[in-house]
Amino acid sequence: MLGRDTGTAERALVKALLADDKQEHHERLLVHNKVIKHNFRYNAMRLEQCSLEGCGANYEITLVPRQILYPKYCEKHRSEYQRVLHLRRKA
Ligand SMILES: [Zn+2]
Repeated sequence: MLGRDTGTAERALVKALLADDKQEHHERLLVHNKVIKHNFRYNAMRLEQCSLEGCGANYEITLVPRQILYPKYCEKHRSEYQRVLHLRRKA
């Protein structure tokens, strides 16, 4: 269950991480996720494009009210192994 407080806590966490001098915290959080700011008050489907260089596959995400962290890669490339494999093949 996502309550109102969860979203607030998440935003505060992201804000703190983005402001953090220690880049590694920020980077760790954003290895698999990206920040999408939106004002939807209900769940909404949206098409995103895989962030992996040379992939470009589309995948669906569900925007959830007060949630701003979403997957950055298509379903296949959510595994680090698959990302490394993809980049090696490309090289
Ligand atoms: Zn991909």
